[in-house]
Amino acid sequence: MRPARALIDLQALRSNYGLARELGGGRALAVVKADAYGHGAVRCAQALEAEADGFAVACIEEALELREAGIRAPVLLLEGFFEADELALVDAHGLWCVVHASWQVEALERARPARPLNLWLKLDTGMHRVGLSPAEFVDAWQRLRALPQVQALVAMSHFARADELDCDRTREQTAAFESTLAGLGAATTSLANSPGLLGWDPRGDWSRPGLMLYGASPFADGDVPDGARARLERLQPVMRFESRIIAVRELAPGEPVGYGGRFVCERPTRVGVVAAGYADGYPQFAPTGTSVAIDDRPGRLIGRVSMDMLTVDLTDHPQAGLGSRVELWGGQVRVAELARQAGSSAYALLSGLKRVPLVYA
Ligand SMILES: *Cc1c(COP(=O)(O)O)cnc(C)c1O
Repeated sequence: MRPARALIDLQALRSNYGLARELGGGRALAVVKADAYGHGAVRCAQALEAEADGFAVACIEEALELREAGIRAPVLLLEGFFEADELALVDAHGLWCVVHASWQVEALERARPARPLNLWLKLDTGMHRVGLSPAEFVDAWQRLRALPQVQALVAMSHFARADELDCDRTREQTAAFESTLAGLGAATTSLANSPGLLGWDPRGDWSRPGLMLYGASPFADGDVPDGARARLERLQPVMRFESRIIAVRELAPGEPVGYGGRFVCERPTRVGVVAAGYADGYPQFAPTGTSVAIDDRPGRLIGRVSMDMLTVDLTDHPQAGLGSRVELWGGQVRVAELARQAGSSAYALLSGLKRVPLVYA
């Protein structure tokens, strides 16, 4: 069997969820969209269900997958319904629903659900992706508040740049959120995503941690201030993506390795071929020198990454050979650091994992 696999540590997931809730100071929706960022939504939700206040997903298809697996906890649709007729399923499965557009407010006014709705009204405080303007928000808030079919209404917004710790935008967005809410009386609120929880003093009744549950740093820059660093150090990586060496070659100086001959040996070089490539979600354009761990020792990628294989330098790893284990990301090669080296993001790498079996522990 091909040796590439991703080991998933569910205890680490639970620990990270506990940290998220501690930092948020309130309740926390575990974001398990995109198959729990590549970790397997059903297994992750089952592992968290006893402690989680609820889950969040991108769409009804993802929510139904959880319900069909027997998850009874609250599940929030982060983009609400895409079409008004999905409201029947929202009702039937007791889903919570973000409302980010006026047409959704109108559809909700017409709806006659069997059970009362739990709605999260989204204010655009500067992300400018989805969400209502302050004037639309105030109008929608009052209209939804007045509906007998609405049981709970949460005010939410989303940060655009909380991963940049030297940027004022997060404080400005928070201030815009508070000033729009000021006239509406007491409201239940939700602001913080992972960088909000780890890097800022998060406010709000509900947080929405995603990436941090999986133990990865959300910060764009590797250098973070001490406060955020101390928080990051408490995260435990959940996924270890690993494979094994399936071939070894000894090459003379001047010999190229791999497609395009982009790496040329400068010294007598022992090359290990690892069974993992970009079709598994490893970043195709990771440069020579990108970190790997070979039998738990720091090593480096050389040459271009292929679809099913990649090559590592074994010259300084005389003990390694056929069958040696290579960690591509995990506890030693942190996925956020790999992302920086490869010009990607921890979000894209984790959620881009494919073809590789997930093995739970
Ligand atoms: C994906 C998402 C989150 C989680 O973001 P992380 O940065 O992964 O913590 C939170 N809120 C919304 C609206 C999202 O779409």
